[in-house]
Amino acid sequence: MAKQELNRRQFLRSGAIAVGAMVAVGAGVGYLQKVTAESRINEEFLRPPGAIREKDFIYACIKCGLCIQICPVKAIKFAGIKEGLAYGTPYIDSRSQACDLSCDSIQCVETCPTAALYFAPFKTAGEKAIVKYDKTHKPDAGYNPFPVQILAMKKQVDMGKAQVNEKTCLAVRGKGFKGIPRGKEFKGINRSPYGNSPKATPLRDKQYDVKICDICVKECPMGEEAIVMAKHTMADGRIVNKPKVLDGCIGCGVCVMVCPTTEASIVVIPDKA
Ligand code: SF4
Ligand code: SF4
Ligand code: SF4
Repeated sequence: MAKQELNRRQFLRSGAIAVGAMVAVGAGVGYLQKVTAESRINEEFLRPPGAIREKDFIYACIKCGLCIQICPVKAIKFAGIKEGLAYGTPYIDSRSQACDLSCDSIQCVETCPTAALYFAPFKTAGEKAIVKYDKTHKPDAGYNPFPVQILAMKKQVDMGKAQVNEKTCLAVRGKGFKGIPRGKEFKGINRSPYGNSPKATPLRDKQYDVKICDICVKECPMGEEAIVMAKHTMADGRIVNKPKVLDGCIGCGVCVMVCPTTEASIVVIPDKA
C-alpha cells in the first residue's frame, strides 16, 4: 500500500515534470521560431547587386563567401551571428564601404554559384548592348563595345534608392564643405567618375572645397541619370539646393559613404521587392 502510494506520488510528480518539460520545450520552440522568423528577414540589409527577393535569398545563399572574396573594394561583409538564419550571408554597409562598381563587370553576381545573386539579367543586358553597338559600329581599329556593355550591366543593379535627409544635408542648409569628407582616418575607397585613376583610391586622399555641398552628386558612379543638384521648395516656401535622386539611382551607396556630415545626410533604402 505504502509502495503503491509512493508510486502514485512518484507517478504524479514525474507526470508534472513531464508536463512542465513539454511546456518549457514548447515555449523554447516557440521562442526559437519567433527568433529565427524575425531574424530571417532583415529589411534594413543592403544586399549585394543582383540579390533575389530577401525571403528567397536567405535560403538560396549557401554562405560560400565567393562574392565577398572577389569584390575589389571589399564592400561585401558577412552578417554576424545575431542575424539568426541570415548569419554568414553577404551584406553591404555603404557608410563604411560602398559598392563603387569599380569591378566593372559586377563580379560578385557573376561569381555566385547558386544564383542567389542572379546574373542572367546582367548578361542579357550586356549582350543586347553589344548587339545594338554592332549595328552602328564597324569592327575596325576603334571597335570597342565594352564600355556600353559595362554601362548596360551596371544599370541592371537595383539595390535600393537613395533618400536625402533635408534636416542635415549641407546643401539644403545653404552650406559648403572644405576638407576631407570623412576625415583622415576613414578607410573607405572609391573610384571617382572624374579623374584618371582606373582603380578605386582612398577617400581620405581627396580634398573638397565647395561653396554648396554636392559631393554625393559629384561622386555618384551613375552620374546625372541617378542624382543631380536641383532647386527644391521647402514646406515653408524657401527655395534651396538639394540633391535630387532620379530613376537611374541603383542604390550603390557611394553617396552615403562620401557624405561629410556626422550622420550621413543621404541613405539608401534597400529594395526588397
Ligand atoms: S558590383 Fe560592387 S559589390 Fe559587386 S564586386 Fe563589384 S564593386 Fe564589389
Ligand atoms: S554630400 Fe551629404 S551634405 Fe553634401 S549635398 Fe550630398 S547629402 Fe547633402
Ligand atoms: S545616388 Fe548615385 S551614388 Fe547614391 S545610391 Fe544612387 S546611384 Fe549610388
